[in-house]
Amino acid sequence: MHFVDKKTYPEYTEIVELLADFSKKEMPKWRTYKNKKPRRTPNGLWTDAKIREPLRNLFLECCGYCGERLYKNEKENKYRGQVEHFVPKSNQYAIDNDLVYNWDNYIWSCPSCNTDKGTYFDLDVMLFNPCDATDCSYIFFNADKGNYQLKKEIIDKKIIERYKKTFDEKLSLINEKMDNRKITLNQVDVFLNSIKKFQNLYKKRKVEKFLTNINKNKNKLIEYYKQASYKLLIKETVLEFNKKQKTNISLI
Ligand SMILES: [Zn+2]
Repeated sequence: MHFVDKKTYPEYTEIVELLADFSKKEMPKWRTYKNKKPRRTPNGLWTDAKIREPLRNLFLECCGYCGERLYKNEKENKYRGQVEHFVPKSNQYAIDNDLVYNWDNYIWSCPSCNTDKGTYFDLDVMLFNPCDATDCSYIFFNADKGNYQLKKEIIDKKIIERYKKTFDEKLSLINEKMDNRKITLNQVDVFLNSIKKFQNLYKKRKVEKFLTNINKNKNKLIEYYKQASYKLLIKETVLEFNKKQKTNISLI
């Protein structure tokens, strides 16, 4: 789980306004539809490309919870991802707080995380939200284990309870995908370390061959990134590597 800033989306204002207009029209229906018979579910604008496409782009085509890449189903010409309501749309809290048609309440999610999370919502024990910078600052990715752990300095009982609820209970699939994440990250590590090794060699002896090897590995890394799952994690790993090793490796 890595922080995604919804406000950075270029068309942020337009999307927020589009949803606000829609909300005005559809919310009265949401407020009454549960009591009406037969039930007729009001319009779900989140199934429309106008919402799905921007959200998918923002999350780099990966599930906001577990990081798995949601590839296109070529037969159906559709991406597997779903627009997940962080506060479930069926919950009275979402209805009272206008969160059914609300950009800030949407997470790009894989079907299994969406199902796992279900209709869980508890204001006292909130799940970690990938669009909340503070939540994301409590955890780090442990590359040896392949899972997300709480930072050692976090001793607040409430945060520990929320962490357990999120990663051990509700979204336990996040941990099941540990091995896949480890494999992906190990591969990224190989590229990063090769680049650094050849950069150091080139610094010492200005041999053309080292430059060729630097570029070869950079291209391999970019190609790998384009195809890989866990793009948000890879991005963060490269940033961290650059910071620690004083390199300047880019993914584009
Ligand atoms: Zn997922």
